[in-house]
Amino acid sequence: MDSLTGIAVSSGVVIGRAQVLDAVERYVPERRIEAEAVEAEVERLWTAIGAALDDLTELRNKTEEELGSDPAKILDFHIGVLQDPTLVTPMQERITKGLVNAERAVAERFEQLAKQFRGMGSEVLRQKANDIIDLDRRILGKLMGQSVDHLLEVDEPVVLVAHELTPSQAASIDRKKILGIATDAGGKTSHTSIVARALEIPAVVGCHELTSTIQNGDQIIVDGETGKVLVRPSSDDIAHYRERQQKQLIKRASYKELVDLEPVTLDGTRITLMGNIEFPEEVETVLANGGYGVGLYRTEFLWLTRDDSPTEDEQFEDYRRTLQLLDGRPLTIRTFDLGADKYTQQRAEEPERNPFLGCRSIRYCLQNLPMFKTQLRAIMRASAFGTMKIMFPLVSTVMELRQTKMLLRDVCEELDEESIPYDRDLEAGMMVEVPSAALMAKVFASEVSFFSIGTNDLIQYTLAVDRGNERVANLYTGAHPAVLQLIKSVVRAARRRSVDVSICGELAAEPIYTMLLIGLGIRTLSMVPAQIPVIKQVIRAVDVEHCERVARKIGTFDSERQVLNCLRDELRKVDPESFVAIGGDS
Ligand code: PEP
Ligand code: MG
Repeated sequence: MDSLTGIAVSSGVVIGRAQVLDAVERYVPERRIEAEAVEAEVERLWTAIGAALDDLTELRNKTEEELGSDPAKILDFHIGVLQDPTLVTPMQERITKGLVNAERAVAERFEQLAKQFRGMGSEVLRQKANDIIDLDRRILGKLMGQSVDHLLEVDEPVVLVAHELTPSQAASIDRKKILGIATDAGGKTSHTSIVARALEIPAVVGCHELTSTIQNGDQIIVDGETGKVLVRPSSDDIAHYRERQQKQLIKRASYKELVDLEPVTLDGTRITLMGNIEFPEEVETVLANGGYGVGLYRTEFLWLTRDDSPTEDEQFEDYRRTLQLLDGRPLTIRTFDLGADKYTQQRAEEPERNPFLGCRSIRYCLQNLPMFKTQLRAIMRASAFGTMKIMFPLVSTVMELRQTKMLLRDVCEELDEESIPYDRDLEAGMMVEVPSAALMAKVFASEVSFFSIGTNDLIQYTLAVDRGNERVANLYTGAHPAVLQLIKSVVRAARRRSVDVSICGELAAEPIYTMLLIGLGIRTLSMVPAQIPVIKQVIRAVDVEHCERVARKIGTFDSERQVLNCLRDELRKVDPESFVAIGGDS
């Protein structure tokens, strides 16, 4: 039995068989193979190439039919490369002579080839390096059996184990087939964790050595409460964890009783509780948990579940469907937050050196205007079908915001000219998730209708701690006085201008912070739907004056430890049950 400890990111305990995924896009492991395995490994290589050729030929024919012969020629290049013996023979030799796995042989050969193309004199040929990378991923996808479709092909429910899930893999998880998730890398607010929580799949990330400890089919226990992962557990462990599973089921059932109760403090102050969603279907979970509406719709997940760009009509349909499911309740839709770890880097010829500080989010959209305008049109068209607000992520300068608002106005003018209806009073707001925006909240407050504080990014950028890096996860905390001061000043600036302010980062979902956030003046919290009843329970146990006293006291502390100790004490006093649920001793 091996026992590892990672970061618990989605609650619940699961016991099952492991399905181990290798990562296609970032990390291609070199595995030594035995001489007897060479023949089978070469066979795998040929099968993968054959399957990729079949896909490409089908795609070529479809492209020719729909778009004509010119666009289809691009695919002729791909097909030609794969049929070229000077590409394939060296791969085969690397397997037979170097005794390495087929994935490694493919990755090495394509890297050489891409380098050759990048070094060529003509721009057209240099551009071909992108096609080469595309081919590389196609074949690796076949070999490693981890394409998006593959995740959906699992027959029996399994526990998914991976070095790290790409956002597209995370986005294509089917909760009926995946019992739990455990990964080597990642942090509490990395996108795998967000999706796991959204789908209510128990998960532990940041286990470091897990993939080198486990084999496909091994039995595994994932404890999403304590962060423990047991590989090949003893029968005693299994019995112990089965008992814990039972207790959790009972606890969850007790939260159901809270669904219909009002989120009102003891002194009668209403706190609006909203849900965060990634897909329209999640609206049902928000409503089932007693959410008032959707406070954050992460629309970029639409890109992560497919290989091509979503069209205006496809986007419009998704947004309209979300509004229909909400049946009059409010929706705050966020424009694409692509970049960083989502989508663009995996497809880039030359990935950015520092993608979280690079061309992500609103910056990416403003550099890709046709794509951004398409989304704005789809959003505005959908706005005629319900109660909607729009918000922009990662705004860091006033000019960015003004440029975005100007684009929105252009889009509205276009719709006017085409006599397409939209909500003329649609409120536009921004996320505050960068220190520059928080520090300049006073200026931004005169430009927007509302702020939504994205603490996941605000913490990462304020503390210079990568939110997805397990090695510095101990430094990533919302209890840092610098983060709290920023939140406080944003709320103050918003109030002065009568601009609404809410929190939609994971801090909103953590019961230990509820009193502090209320004390700081926050009246709307948006979170993963399953946490809504949990937070409601705390709200119903506190009164606002007490929360304000707590916030004032916390404002005098200079370390996160003092902050956390104080928050724990206060939660224990007002709501011992929630305190025990977050792992405190009763
Ligand atoms: C945030 O940064 O807090 C946020 C809600 O956005 P995301 O987690 O999608 O980056
Ligand atoms: Mg963010």
